[in-house]
This record gives sequence, C-alpha cells and structure tokens, in this order.
Amino acid sequence: MKILVLNCGSSSLKYQLIDMENESVLAKGLCERIGIEGSKLTHKVAGKDDFELETPMPDHSKAVSLVFDALTDASHGVVKSVDEIGAVGHRVLHGGTKFTESIVVNDEVKKVIRECFDLGPLHNPANLMGIEACEKVVPGKKNVAVFDTTFGMAIPEKAYYYAIPTEYYEKYGIRRYGFHGTSHTYVSNETIKFGNLDPKNAKVIVCHLGNGASISASIGGKGVDTSMGLTPLEGLIMGTRSGDIDPAVVQFICNHENKSVDEVLNILNKKSGILGMSGVSSDFRDVEKAAEEGNHMAKVGLEAYRYRIAKYIGAYVAAMNGVDAIAFTAGVGENDKKTRKLIVDEYLGYLGAKIDDERNDVRGEERLISTDDSKVKIFLIPTNEELAIARDTLRLVEA
Ligand code: AMP
Repeated sequence: MKILVLNCGSSSLKYQLIDMENESVLAKGLCERIGIEGSKLTHKVAGKDDFELETPMPDHSKAVSLVFDALTDASHGVVKSVDEIGAVGHRVLHGGTKFTESIVVNDEVKKVIRECFDLGPLHNPANLMGIEACEKVVPGKKNVAVFDTTFGMAIPEKAYYYAIPTEYYEKYGIRRYGFHGTSHTYVSNETIKFGNLDPKNAKVIVCHLGNGASISASIGGKGVDTSMGLTPLEGLIMGTRSGDIDPAVVQFICNHENKSVDEVLNILNKKSGILGMSGVSSDFRDVEKAAEEGNHMAKVGLEAYRYRIAKYIGAYVAAMNGVDAIAFTAGVGENDKKTRKLIVDEYLGYLGAKIDDERNDVRGEERLISTDDSKVKIFLIPTNEELAIARDTLRLVEA
C-alpha cells in the first residue's frame, strides 16, 4: 500500500508518499506560503528534476489538491490515480488527555483535535485544516491522526503531573505531555532493533537535538519520561527556546519591561535558547563558528546547551536505575560529531561511556559510535517521523 504523510503548519504543508512494500519514498515536497502572497509548491522525485509551481494557494484545500495533482501528473507524478494511495497519515501536535494512540479520523477525533487548539495553538488548527482538506479533495480516503503527544501519554503519573493544585489538571488537562513523540518512539525502537537490545527491557535515552530539542527515557520502547511539558518550551536549551526556567522570571520581566505574559512567552519561545544567549543565531553551525572566533557568550551558550543535556541524561539514568543505550538524533544529533563527543567526554565518564572517534566521524546514518568496551552503547540513529507516521497509518487502516 502507498501512504501519503502530511505535516501541516499554519502556512506550510510538507508531504511524503511512501510505498509500504519496501518503505521507500516515492515523492516528497513542500507547499510554502499558504494563504500568503507568493505560494509555492516544490515536488521532488528521486532521479528527476524538482518540479516547482508558483500559484496562489488561498487555503490548505488548494494546497492539498495541488499535492494530489503533482503526485498523479503524467510527467512528474509517481502514481496513475489517487486510487493507488491507500490512506493519508497526518502529523497532529496535540491529542490532549483523550488519545494515547494514533487513530483513524472520524467526527469525534476532529472534535478532540479542535478542543486541543488551546494546548497547541500554532499547530492543531493547521493539522485539522490538513485533515479537512483531504476529506474535501479525496472524499472517502481514510485519514489517520498520529499525535506528537503519544509517547508522553505513556509516562507514569509521577512524571507527568506538575506539582500545582490538581484542579488545573482536572479542569484543563494541565500536565506534561512531551512532544517529538513520533521521533522518540521511532528512534527508541530503532535503537533496540539496530543495537540488538532486549526488546522488553532495554533502557534507552534518546537525545532529539534539532532546532527544537527534547530528550526521553524509555524501557522496552515504552515512555518513562520526556523533557518537554505542557508545551514544547520545557526541558533542554533549544535553538530559540529557553527550556527549563524559573517561572518567576516571567513575572520579573513583565514587571520591569512592562510586557504582557504572552509577550514574555514569545521571547522564551522565539528569542531565547542558543539564539538569545549567543546573540548570534539559532543555527548551531553559526554559533559554533562564533565561539571559535572568540565570542564568549556563544561559547557559554554551547556549554550550557551540553550541560543541560548531560543533567537530563543523569536524571533519566536515575529514573530508569540504569541505561543500556543512548541515541543521538535530529539536526544537531545527526550531524554534529563535536557536540556528541563533548557530551560523552565531558559528562558521561561516570557511566563508563566512551565515544569512538573514528566511528563518531559520521553524519545521518545508523551507527554505533561508542567503543567496544564502553559500558553504555551510544548510537547515531537518524529520525524518520514520516516513516513512523506511515507505519502507524498502515497498521490502523489494515486493522
Ligand atoms: P532539525 O530541527 O532537526 O531540522 O535541526 C536543525 C538544526 O540542526 C539547525 O538549526 C542546525 O543548527 C543544526 N545542524 C544541522 N547540521 C549541523 C552541523 N553540521 N553542525 C551543527 N549543527 C547542525
């Protein structure tokens, strides 16, 4: 079966068509500037020139219909008709407390996604628009919602409750949900498979280090803890997000800078992290270059970034009473050998973890990067959220 995977943002739509016979990507692409002037579709098929189309996309329905046109086009298409596409898997940010699993979309599912607009104000409305656009453009085709919160829904009460009055959980579902769930599920399972670890009992820590960053602990692939919280702001230092912070900082800045809570949260989400500390960029390559050129706060920002990761690794080793494997993934985790090496060399000696410099000299491919005598196995495992969404979609439509 061929599965279309859609990841809709407020003004963008990313897609991949995956042939589940061999899990190969038949085509992938991106619609940009939906609802804004200058909308553009870029469609990529292996072995062919990219197809680019600049045409108005007033809404997600138009974008989805252009995607289906591109996929079925005589010259740059990959299927003869939409009938060859078995189902559509949608990345949905937030499923609230209702969904602990991916699910075939019906009216009730859409209602819950809508009820979670508050919890995922930037993503859930766009995710729902993507689903409704598919219902309109290819009626009758099954849509599956794969929630980014699913991994976090498995973590125990002691890990997900905030120590605030319980009424806020009861009234509003305020708890830790975690995000990048599809990635944490995929990478932890892939680590077990690739590393030939015990599928039931392997204790795995996944460091998803991209522009957004989060870290998780799991045993046998089942979530024990994850660093993001009610929103993606909690946890690690990220490209533009502060991660963990004393909430009183918000009040202090509000009072001293005459700003609203929303304005300060915007600063914590978009202007903080490695960007805010270094004042240089949210891209780690720029910040590393600045640090090498002597920019003190770029250097401190990178040190703080690694330090926070190491603190979480320590916490998760305690949470699981041990660790068998640590996996690095996403933009920084897959491409930045120096950061991987420094985290292990500077902080993980107490675990008997040792990086192998030759094995670590790698980008974006599954590999063991620790020495043979390392007490903890360390891996590079590229994430593949689209494939994880497609696998869940296939499982549910075949059920
Ligand atoms: P992602 O969100 O997973 O796409 O990751 C994007 C981030 O990965 C970028 O913002 C970069 O900071 C980082 N990145 C990509 N390549 C490298 C590299 N070679 N060295 C350091 N950071 C990188």
